[in-house]
Amino acid sequence: MKIAIITSGGDSPGMNPLIRYLTRALIENGYEVMGYRSGYKGIAYREKYHLTYDNVAGLLKMGGTILGTSRFPEFKDNPAVREHVKNILREDKVDVLVVIGGDGSLRGAYDLTRLGVKCIVLPASIDNDIYGTDETLGMHTALSTIQDAVDKIKDTASSHDRAFIIEVMGHRSGFLAVSAAIATGAEGVFIPEVETDVDELATRLRKRYEEGRRNSIIIVAEGKASAREVAELLKSKNIGYDIRISVLGHIQRGGIPVFHDRLLAFRLAMGTLKALSQKTFNVLVGIKKDDIAFTPLEKAVKNKKTLSQFLINSVYTFKWED
Ligand code: ADP
Repeated sequence: MKIAIITSGGDSPGMNPLIRYLTRALIENGYEVMGYRSGYKGIAYREKYHLTYDNVAGLLKMGGTILGTSRFPEFKDNPAVREHVKNILREDKVDVLVVIGGDGSLRGAYDLTRLGVKCIVLPASIDNDIYGTDETLGMHTALSTIQDAVDKIKDTASSHDRAFIIEVMGHRSGFLAVSAAIATGAEGVFIPEVETDVDELATRLRKRYEEGRRNSIIIVAEGKASAREVAELLKSKNIGYDIRISVLGHIQRGGIPVFHDRLLAFRLAMGTLKALSQKTFNVLVGIKKDDIAFTPLEKAVKNKKTLSQFLINSVYTFKWED
């Protein structure tokens, strides 16, 4: 059986370890394995990538993806391009396409299955916004990068009695913002899922300032607002602090994958092996309640992962509510 692997969409730290685990697991179990460069685009342009047991050595500690990735809107928008991709896979005698990517890549894979291509999707996204899995590849490393950056910003914020508005990634999901806010002791968040009561936040910040607390941190998910917009909003509310902004940007996507992302990569590779050995195709391989879980692609595409209210509340309170 011949398996082709692509990494697609936004890159995330952990893709390289996953390529390494998956390639070796497949080869050891008698599968033929190959890659295409640059996601769906690389299939369309037939940019093959030779994957061997040996040439995936050293990937565990590498950020990024050796296969490369791309955004390829033609694939999404033009049925003829998808048909072309299907034909290339057929000509190259690929039995199963393994897509490592985020929500868009998942949708692309689902479209291919409707043309008869067998696909397995492995969720890789720093945003943790994919239905069918508790964790997505890269989120642990991204959070660790954000935590490190916010800790450092807090040091300088304290020296100058400043409030910092820090913008993190997350177009549709506030997962990174909320998790980072809890991990760094931020005073508030702005996320796509809920409205922030700006007057209430401003009152709290003002009180902190008057109590002599030397810094205040607000985390903003880029999908809700820009750090600049939130800063303007708070400046108009007279919170006392001098306000500064910081946009963390693409550092959140890079870096050496942390232990948890490597472990997740390993588990996703083993989940793929399980799916193949059971001849379970057209599924998303994820982790649910600490176990490998398969979700049909159609279900994964049609459902939206929700951010736990408990997590959101935890930014503001230690209360336990059953
Ligand atoms: P991610 O996988 O990180 O969410 P994108 O949203 O850019 O990244 O998607 C990656 C690629 O998947 C796109 O360039 C496009 O080729 C394909 N894709 C994205 N959205 C869809 C969709 N709704 N239907 C089909 N293909 C899609």
